[in-house]
Amino acid sequence: PAPAPYRGRFAPSPTGPLHLGSLVAALGSWLMARRSGGEWRLRVEDLDPPREVAGAAQAQIRALAAFGLRHDGEVEYQSTRGAHYAAALGRLLDAGDAFECHCSRADVAGQGGVHRHCVAGARRADPAVRLRVPDGCVIAFDDALHGQVAQDVATAVGDIVLRRADGLWAYQLAVVVDDAAQGITDVVRGADLLDSTPRQILLQQRLGLSTPRYAHLPLVVDASGHKLSKALAASPVDAAAPLPALALAWRILGQDPDAVATATGPAGFLDCALATFDVTRIPRGPVRLPAAMHNTP
Ligand code: GLU
Repeated sequence: PAPAPYRGRFAPSPTGPLHLGSLVAALGSWLMARRSGGEWRLRVEDLDPPREVAGAAQAQIRALAAFGLRHDGEVEYQSTRGAHYAAALGRLLDAGDAFECHCSRADVAGQGGVHRHCVAGARRADPAVRLRVPDGCVIAFDDALHGQVAQDVATAVGDIVLRRADGLWAYQLAVVVDDAAQGITDVVRGADLLDSTPRQILLQQRLGLSTPRYAHLPLVVDASGHKLSKALAASPVDAAAPLPALALAWRILGQDPDAVATATGPAGFLDCALATFDVTRIPRGPVRLPAAMHNTP
């Protein structure tokens, strides 16, 4: 049979304007998809109303358009997909792979922050639901940029929350259900999610879903090598002047600045970028933001 066509995605959370880290993920996943002649889907991960900023999703979608990053198909909103998450949860409960958990935060903190056993004294009206992670559950995968990655999910994260006690769906469940439902073959995203991937693969296995390929793009750090301050990392990229931000994201992806130097607009920039994009140049480790950028308000 012919190999499955490439289908990538960008899946921002609408917690604020598009920032540099998200532009790197958007541009990197777009380039990887388009270079393979593949599709690039857009999914708004609006699972957590308390953390959501009104209007942020529409602002992110407008910003992507201003950067010339066109997506295929309809935008998907996780807030509309509760029935699918409930169905997956039901299957896990029926199979005995998930269980209701009445533990409080303090109960879990008492186990070193890693849930291994229910110790709750009192039963709650609305318990959380967790995926049971057996002892010695090591999940390994081959990341396109980081190579072999392995994690003992039992000791690193413990039993995985699928639905929170407040009734909200956990990101880990929703992203697995949606990547499968959208037929995503390639997940390209920031390295801050590298340690979530083993959990997601375990969930795919329990749900009988296939595992996509993964590539985790470099994180951006400040000139002294520290993680960007919240304020700087979250500072919006200026969609009204798309070229400087695109050029910076391109450099963070380790690509040749000269290749895009003559571009006068986002469309021309992306044409040049696509023609010269070289996956082998993407840095494996964190990337230092040029010091000049720190003065940006
Ligand atoms: N919504 C997640 C975020 O913005 C990304 C999820 C993903 O790419 O898997 O951090």
